Amino acid sequence: HEAATNLRLVDMSEAPSVFSRIVSGEIPTTLLAETDRVIAFADIAPQAPVHLLVVPKTAEYRDVVELAAGDPSLLAEMVEVASSLAKEHTGGEFRLVFNTGESAGQTVFHVHAHVLGGSLQEGTLG
Ligand code: ADP
Repeated sequence: HEAATNLRLVDMSEAPSVFSRIVSGEIPTTLLAETDRVIAFADIAPQAPVHLLVVPKTAEYRDVVELAAGDPSLLAEMVEVASSLAKEHTGGEFRLVFNTGESAGQTVFHVHAHVLGGSLQEGTLG
């Protein structure tokens, strides 16, 4: 059993999410907006002509339901930032999407808002 003495399993659920690594500066991005509590930047895999992300700096909330319950003013700030971005990038009209849960397509469990604008493709949500 000695061979396993130094084995340490990494608990990936404790690993910083890609968005925490962007907030900390470890992963570079071009910020489009920043407040004390929120950053915004372009999605790396855009699903619409304009596809931006609004992300709280804190990693405390995994999804919008937890955020709304825990810090409604931070959620309101995300909506304000989304609206300001949309004024600059989409003429003011936009979709705001919070994927909530794996089966709904959420892959990063650090709450974030997708700001989608421009001519949207036809689809179930379009
Ligand atoms: P989904 O991947 O299904 O959209 P989420 O709602 O959790 O799930 O969204 C995560 C988003 O983060 C994706 O749109 C993905 O393209 C984006 N993303 C992942 N890594 C980066 C990155 N380094 N920079 C910008 N956007 C990123």
